[in-house]
Amino acid sequence: MKNPKITIGWLYPDFMNTYGDRGNILVLKSRCLERGILVEVIDISLGSQASEILRADFLFMGGAQDRQQEIVYKDLHLKKKFLQQAVEREIPGLYICGAYQLLGNYYITAEGVPIKGLEILGLYTENPGKKRLVGNIVVKTEIEELKDQLIIGFENHGGQTFLNKDMRPFGEIVRGHGNNEIDPNEGVYYKNTIGTYLHGPIFSKNPRLADWFIAKALKVKYGEDVQLKPMNDRFEFLARQQFLTQDHA
Ligand code: GLN
Repeated sequence: MKNPKITIGWLYPDFMNTYGDRGNILVLKSRCLERGILVEVIDISLGSQASEILRADFLFMGGAQDRQQEIVYKDLHLKKKFLQQAVEREIPGLYICGAYQLLGNYYITAEGVPIKGLEILGLYTENPGKKRLVGNIVVKTEIEELKDQLIIGFENHGGQTFLNKDMRPFGEIVRGHGNNEIDPNEGVYYKNTIGTYLHGPIFSKNPRLADWFIAKALKVKYGEDVQLKPMNDRFEFLARQQFLTQDHA
């Protein structure tokens, strides 16, 4: 693979970006550059051409509160055809919290206000208990290549998400709430698309997940399996150890 390059499509950075979600872009970028993979970041927001979505080798959208979600829905449903195509073509994508909710059928807020969803993935979000699910979270992921390691992060959401029977979760809760208070599911995993409640940002806390996305992006773009050069993740490892051994009560 000569001069590999990844184009990151950052969806609505000006609206969808809470609890440090933009850190995921920084981490992905630096882990690529360190390995000689060039990176271009394109912001896709109100006023962008919908076709920009299909220029991306990796798509990212962070979380937000309900008001921003409504604004974004109004714009993104006009671009839906392209986002759906990207998901179906296995373009890797990470969608956090409010963004994850937007991929589903609908979201009913704590005030009972319905926010429409893009209906790209079979899931829906309601707010049955009118309480927020907040705190540190640990997940055993369904991603085959990462089964030997726990995914960690931080959740803060009012919406509780339920997957249709044919949808696979991103993982199973070890600690925290995840999708809802009823089943053990966290997030959704469809083709190379992950929807999750994990802020953190998730990539800084789980560098191997970032690398999984980089490898998938290169595979889809260049058609070759890639073995990424290992990086010195000593500090990340120590931070993870600390997180996993501390008392979260
Ligand atoms: N507005 C959504 C909720 O509270 C999403 C919140 C978020 O993205 N952090 O459920």
